[in-house]
Amino acid sequence: MKRAVYPGSFDPVTFGHLDVIHRAANIFDELTVSVLNNVGKSALFSVEERVKMLKEAVSDLPNVTVDSFSGLLINYAKSKDIHVVVRGLRAITDFEYELQIAQTNHKLSGGELDTMFLTTSLEYAYLSSSSVKEIACFNGDVSPCVPDFVAKELYCKYHH
Ligand code: ADP
Repeated sequence: MKRAVYPGSFDPVTFGHLDVIHRAANIFDELTVSVLNNVGKSALFSVEERVKMLKEAVSDLPNVTVDSFSGLLINYAKSKDIHVVVRGLRAITDFEYELQIAQTNHKLSGGELDTMFLTTSLEYAYLSSSSVKEIACFNGDVSPCVPDFVAKELYCKYHH
């Protein structure tokens, strides 16, 4: 059974994340998408809200589960007996940061945890959760970037 974890902030989930999730779900038998409860990073949505939106977004994928974690990814992965991390690469700007994290995780886990990168589909390469939030904040149309129910949640956060 090949299992992987796709960790991230997902604040909120975008079509870019969903593209990575769909593709990873085709590669692995089981995929756990896990929201990082990062105390150092201020988020728009609570971990519970992000988990709820992700659950709705992946409800059509039977081999994908949604979870959350805090602390080190290597400890979380170990507790779940998962040895592969999936991350998305949008552009060269993501690369340096991702490479450093992947190498750190490999070293810290004593070689137990490997990272696999999926390059983003071109149509979503421009997408990021932060740009989506900025567009929503200024009342722009986020429908090309996120599922409808996420667009509604964004609208509620900023305009209610
Ligand atoms: P983090 O704070 O961990 O970077 P994000 O939610 O911003 O969390 O991203 C989670 C992962 O998804 C990262 O690997 C990121 O590179 C990837 N990702 C984000 N947006 C896209 C996109 N549009 N296409 C492909 N991968 C993406």
